[in-house]
Amino acid sequence: MERELIMPQTLLLATRNQNKKKELRKIIGNWNVNLLTLDDMSDLPEVVEDGATFAENAIKKARTISALTGYITLADDSGLEVDALGGAPGIFSARFAGTDADDVKNNQKLLALMGNISNEKRTARFVCVIAIATPEGSAQTAQGVCPGTIENAGRGQGGFGYDPLFIPQGYNKTFAELADEEKNEISHRGKALREARQLLQQVFGAEGIM
Ligand code: IMP
Repeated sequence: MERELIMPQTLLLATRNQNKKKELRKIIGNWNVNLLTLDDMSDLPEVVEDGATFAENAIKKARTISALTGYITLADDSGLEVDALGGAPGIFSARFAGTDADDVKNNQKLLALMGNISNEKRTARFVCVIAIATPEGSAQTAQGVCPGTIENAGRGQGGFGYDPLFIPQGYNKTFAELADEEKNEISHRGKALREARQLLQQVFGAEGIM
């Protein structure tokens, strides 16, 4: 008997970061879904992240790219919220120290602003919102939050961004001192991705991807 050939469905990730593609592949395992990134697309405009929240930015990115390409699209936005700074850097995490900021400058600025803040007031959280949009314009979101505190000096070599300054709740190591797998289990992005997995199952239909 001839076997029916089932074409994989396609999911476009609104990112050029190949690590995010690897992370998602790990989460969805051997689902019959073809993953593309913006590096596989040409002539797409840069989507300006001008929303007031992580969710607004993620939804705008996912909807815009999905409408332009016709692919179901996943976009994320994430950052660090520090209570003593009224939630800053928040949606401005990547460019906290200015438009030419890098991780070192962002971390230096955060430490300088928190110089006088006592240990018990150094609470913070990483937040990640993932949006999944269809070309027809529908969008759903998944959110992950990882609470913790901000150290007085950087520690550790792993990770990126504010990882050397962030101690997740219940640990005495910074994110930069944890192995990737350990961080994924508790991180904002790991949590949001695991929730997004369920949304994707609904969007694609469980039978279509298994
Ligand atoms: P994006 O949403 O992946 O573009 O991340 C925005 C910014 O938030 C990054 O440039 C980092 O400064 C910060 N950030 C987000 N997630 C993490 C993390 O897991 N560790 C450290 N910094 C992060």
